[in-house]
Amino acid sequence: MPLIVQKFGGTSVANSKKILAAARKAVRAHQQGNQVVMVVSAMGKNTDTLIKLSKEINEKPPAREMDMLLSTGEQVSVALMAMAIDSMGFKAVSLTGGQIGIKTDSSHTKARIHSISTERMKRLLDEGNIVIAAGFQGIDEDLNITTLGRGGSDTTAVALAAVLGADQCEVYTDVDGIYTTDPRKLPEARLVKRVCYDEMLELASLGAGVMHSRSIEFGKKFNVPIHVRSSLSDVPGSLIVDTAGSSALPVSGAALTRDEALISVVDVPDVAGTIHKIFAPIADKKITVDMIVQNVSAGGTTDISFTVPHEEMDDALAAITEVVTELGGRMGNRDDRVSKVSAVGLGMAHQAGVANRMFRSLADAGVNLQIITTSEIKISVLVKRDVAIEALRTVHAEFELDQPNEQEAADVETEARRATSAVDAVDVINRLQGAGMEALMIDDITLDSTQSRITLHKIPNQPGLAANLFERVAAAGVFVDMIVQSYGSDQIADITFTVGRDQLAEALKVAQAVSDETGCQGVDHKEAIAKLSVSGIGLRSHTGVAIAMFGALANSGVNVEMVNTSEVQVNVVVDGADGAKGLEQLKQAFADSIR
Ligand code: ASP
Ligand code: MG
Repeated sequence: MPLIVQKFGGTSVANSKKILAAARKAVRAHQQGNQVVMVVSAMGKNTDTLIKLSKEINEKPPAREMDMLLSTGEQVSVALMAMAIDSMGFKAVSLTGGQIGIKTDSSHTKARIHSISTERMKRLLDEGNIVIAAGFQGIDEDLNITTLGRGGSDTTAVALAAVLGADQCEVYTDVDGIYTTDPRKLPEARLVKRVCYDEMLELASLGAGVMHSRSIEFGKKFNVPIHVRSSLSDVPGSLIVDTAGSSALPVSGAALTRDEALISVVDVPDVAGTIHKIFAPIADKKITVDMIVQNVSAGGTTDISFTVPHEEMDDALAAITEVVTELGGRMGNRDDRVSKVSAVGLGMAHQAGVANRMFRSLADAGVNLQIITTSEIKISVLVKRDVAIEALRTVHAEFELDQPNEQEAADVETEARRATSAVDAVDVINRLQGAGMEALMIDDITLDSTQSRITLHKIPNQPGLAANLFERVAAAGVFVDMIVQSYGSDQIADITFTVGRDQLAEALKVAQAVSDETGCQGVDHKEAIAKLSVSGIGLRSHTGVAIAMFGALANSGVNVEMVNTSEVQVNVVVDGADGAKGLEQLKQAFADSIR
């Protein structure tokens, strides 16, 4: 008999009427011949209310007790849901995380799932029950109640679908599905039918997604199609699956991270280990660093700029001031009124000219770009916060995300069913060798020695340079891989990009011409660079990956020249002569996590 997991978020169980409506959906699926597991969140804003209550009593409540408290929210919902189903004349049993056997580690309020037992759920299902699982919670080795972090019920749902080998995983919410950007920020956002895991991971971490990031990691790891749909209507909703839409559009979503802060460190030695020394103390404080840009050094020293969440700027500054001084550098600019705008799309990995379109549209809108970073499927720019919405709207329109997409053919209901060739959860879990279902999983560590780097120094600080440069590079038929631009000291920017070595001469000609025409202070290049990439699942939620890479490279004396990070891949560029050695180091450093 097919098995379906249905998750209902807080807004979908906010009152008794909604609980009854959710129960009817489950009963309907049951009557259609499915086994049904429901996962429910706490009612409405109940979790917020409990948090507020705890703070009235203790400003810093012990994390263990916090979990004891917050888990009650879901316990209320599952009990009421079981009663609702009983009232309709069907059999239902509610279970807490502990009763199911969702084993987690002991990091209270942000626990990770280790393992899930399926026996009890399977037995109850076989006896004809609808099983109602409390989302967001688990139990550690000492039987302490743990929670998975805010929004964690999504993760429970996809994890249960994975271990039960469910045929479908439906996530019911108060919006119609997944949009091209957050509709609260941009009303012209459009509902999409299909988005792939990698795109969704990028978008979710940018705050644009309706889903908990870790649930997407589960989806990807265990190949569970996730069907996001409205609990209020019967519209088909959106799918998160492993293949992208068939659409020709290079970009599938855009996102705005409003409250970022930019920090620059100036005149630090351009040698192996510097970058690790600077970021290790920040990582120790569990501050997530987002964009990292290193200016290619002019004379033995370099500038490094990076962004952190706005509210963590002071902590990040405090964490590094001392090392920066020890290194003989100094703190440069800081700006806590910046926002990040990103375009995400699997299509851009193989299409030229996406970045220059984005830069041109922003230049024409008069938006100045402070930092640029690109990864395989994402281009991000840092802009002044007061133009951020305008910048988002510009990018969204440039890539026609506001237009109906004729080519987007997806039969959502059919594709939501898991293929019979689905990844076997037991297999994956075995490969993770008891490290836990949410362990970091590295797919690949690679070395690309086919590229060269070009840098334009001291570019004028005004809109349009990046647009001009990359338009002309594209017009010359050159395919650009990585792009980074940053302002170091005194608001002076460098822009660096990489191209295939066979196109170096072409690209250099264009760069030189642009430099001459716009008054940049010269172009330099390195013919032989090596790009080292680590890709996998959980790179961002396991924040240590970039730091571990920096550490491994520092230990072997390899200097990092460029960095870019994304949800699914961290790339660094080093000198071409260090490529093989760097690869070896990284393979050793991640030996335990390679699948
Ligand atoms: N109730 C929890 C929260 O509000 C978990 C969830 O809803 O997913 O964060
Ligand atoms: Mg949620």
